[in-house]
Amino acid sequence: MPAIAPPAVPPLPDGEAGDICPSCGSARLITGVDARISRLADREAPLWPPGRPPYRHQVPLSFFPGVGPKMRERLLREVGTEMDVLHRIGRDRIADAAGDRIAAAILDARAGLLALTAGSGGTYGRIGGREETGMDDRA
Ligand SMILES: [Zn+2]
Repeated sequence: MPAIAPPAVPPLPDGEAGDICPSCGSARLITGVDARISRLADREAPLWPPGRPPYRHQVPLSFFPGVGPKMRERLLREVGTEMDVLHRIGRDRIADAAGDRIAAAILDARAGLLALTAGSGGTYGRIGGREETGMDDRA
């Protein structure tokens, strides 16, 4: 199977002519990743080489509500590596170290069932909200 080389496209300059900020009218609009990808795209649909594994959403442990630095350390010490915790270890072992709610959230993340709020402008996305989960991150 031939490798598919990325197209040789020079990066788009930010603030090119015609980009006007819809909020403040500035002519120096810094475009976001999604807009830049849309401009560069030359296909209607993604082209996946045969046999290519699917993308997996992965949420870092420290992003889970209830997983502060101390809880993360406990998980790594008592359960396994971050990849083990995120992808491989059974719910019961995670719950023994971190409690049922965190274990449930990690299992939900594996299943793609977590409620995610998109980030933008240099801000990371978030998992649900603390009010929704009833958790805090002072582990
Ligand atoms: Zn603006």
